[in-house]
Amino acid sequence: MQLLMAGFCVFFLSTGAAYANDPSTAMPAVNPELEQRLDDMLTANMSEAEMGVQLQSILATLPADTPVMTQVRIKSYLVMSHAYEGRIDQAYELLEKVAVQAQQSRLPDAITEVAATRIFLKTQEGKLTEAYTLINTAVVPAQQATLPRVLYFAHNLIASVYTQKNQTERALEHLIYASDAVKQTSSERTPIRRIYLKLRIANIYTQQTQYQQALEQLSEAEDLVATHNLESTFSPEIQFQRAYIATDMGELNQAFEIYRDLEAEIKDQPQWASMESTVLNNLGDLAIRTERFESGIATLQQALKLAQEHNNVISEQMIRFNLGFIQVHLGNYERGLAAMQNVVETARGEWIDREFEPLLGEYAQALSMAGQHAAANQALIEQRELRSSIFNTELQKNVTELQNLYDSKDKAQQIELLEQQNDLKEQTLENERQHRLILALGVVVAVLFSIIGFFLYRSARRSNLALQDANARLADQSVRDPLTGLLNRRAMQQELKRQEKVGTPQSDAMILLDIDYFKRINDKLGHAAGDDVICEVAKRLLTVCRDNDKVIRWGGEEFLIYLSNTEQKALPRFVLRLLNSIAGTPITTKSAGDVVVTATAGFISYPFTDVEQQKVDWEASVQLVDQALYAGKVHGRNQAWGITQLNVPYTQAKDVLERDFAQAIEQGAITAITLHGPKASQ
Ligand code: GH3
Ligand code: MG
Ligand code: MG
Repeated sequence: MQLLMAGFCVFFLSTGAAYANDPSTAMPAVNPELEQRLDDMLTANMSEAEMGVQLQSILATLPADTPVMTQVRIKSYLVMSHAYEGRIDQAYELLEKVAVQAQQSRLPDAITEVAATRIFLKTQEGKLTEAYTLINTAVVPAQQATLPRVLYFAHNLIASVYTQKNQTERALEHLIYASDAVKQTSSERTPIRRIYLKLRIANIYTQQTQYQQALEQLSEAEDLVATHNLESTFSPEIQFQRAYIATDMGELNQAFEIYRDLEAEIKDQPQWASMESTVLNNLGDLAIRTERFESGIATLQQALKLAQEHNNVISEQMIRFNLGFIQVHLGNYERGLAAMQNVVETARGEWIDREFEPLLGEYAQALSMAGQHAAANQALIEQRELRSSIFNTELQKNVTELQNLYDSKDKAQQIELLEQQNDLKEQTLENERQHRLILALGVVVAVLFSIIGFFLYRSARRSNLALQDANARLADQSVRDPLTGLLNRRAMQQELKRQEKVGTPQSDAMILLDIDYFKRINDKLGHAAGDDVICEVAKRLLTVCRDNDKVIRWGGEEFLIYLSNTEQKALPRFVLRLLNSIAGTPITTKSAGDVVVTATAGFISYPFTDVEQQKVDWEASVQLVDQALYAGKVHGRNQAWGITQLNVPYTQAKDVLERDFAQAIEQGAITAITLHGPKASQ
């Protein structure tokens, strides 16, 4: 699996300048000469080791009357430098001393800087959860802090912890605070900070698989880099993010080329050492994907050596995992699986959910390659649960993001006022940036809001006001989906109520169908083309269905088909026709030409051997077809999985069915069939 890093050089988070003792802004006193020296160190392209040596010598000759704030800055840098070099004990020892000094000074800036440094130490050790619980120790004093340098450092760091903990809305909020801090200064470091922020925002979009937006941010960053001749500082990270995105979008050759060039560029440069091990890991991942195992081992061994040298805990775990995976590919199951399991156990709870989730997927894949199907199922269940929790966090996030959007619009106005006093050039640039960010956020929110709409419906009792609002709007909606003209969920609900009254028919069937890799279609061809695809799929489904079948737009690109009075035997043929109707002929979009689309489905029909439909309620049926659909996704997509027969009494099968579909098949509780869609048409 490839690894995405949230920012490579934390020293860039620190910003210099604007430290002048200006009484009007009530900033804490500092020593301007020393501060200048520290600024120069940041701008100079020096290795972490060199930086450590310089900091030690500054500290050794520090005049006794040096203002506390400057002392705190020097010592905090030294703490970080200890950590970079793997001297964790020394780092903490110094941190405790400077923490006391900061507390006694009662300076909010000093307290903020120390708290942020502590959070940094935790992230450096790979203790994300601890870092997360410490966030407020920095956020609270930061409300009173005034030094832009400190504010920028603290908010950026907090944003990166939130990003890694999957809380994107909060991450964005702190990135905006950080950019506010940047605006208060105008120095040669301003473009550096702006580029840095763009890279962070791009990183967040990448995590959300919003590649289009991520690439946009990267291009903008690249333009700034070129204008200010900052290639040596930033190009590697920009290239890295581009390669990561290319890999995820399946452009493996392109990814390979970028990583290879990047590796040549950063090789043997101490300041890029931690990136180098990640690049090598990701090259190893590409080798696995393209089944070049021997060269994969060589690359990963090289990566492992670097990661160990530089105390890069997460990289090291990922590399060991990948090496294990190769062993499994080579048939050395026991050895490979032991290595992988080891990593899975350490990573659980510590890694970002979003990175741990695919790790479980690959682990499951390895287990089933080794014939350990029960354990593979277990891993898949865990992955599935994690996925839904990621999805739920996203729901919450989207609502908050909407509120943030309004907040940040307010901010844009404040900033505009502020900037009228700044020089004109800077003002236009910053406004443009802010507006673009808001615009981009707006688009994200608009798209996501349409997706979560139906989900909100399910959790109507949530107390959140925004949710209630959305619910109210939903309740007003008619029974038709505006995009496709299909029935919507509400219509289905009404239908069920009606059936409850008249008694349920005995031979119904239900099919849930989801377009494969739809996000890629949106990312590559644009949202409008995505909409065209959804409409065309809806049309094709209607063509295959009879008049009294119900075709419902269940979610974004998910469709539920409800058939009344269907002959059981005819069902598989019908489902196959649905798959064929979608994948058999390319779909023509208005904006992006032809596109080949496949779909995966799950289905069930009633009655089971001795079970009446009433006993398997509606929600449970949807859950069953959803499980079947998921099984089809896991097994390669463009296929349908159907439950045709219940082999034990339903009460007995119920538990295992609800828990794990694949296991139910394995235990013989149900009989399922698999149907394959057509080979992709070109
Ligand atoms: P999978 O094969 O696992 O289903 O992969 P996928 O990419 O299709 O993943 P998923 O089903 O989770 O993605 C659904 C995407 O559909 C997410 C969202 O961006 C997009 N989407 C949802 N509603 C709409 C819509 O109305 N129009 C467009 N263009 N896109 C939508
Ligand atoms: Mg879907
Ligand atoms: Mg899909």
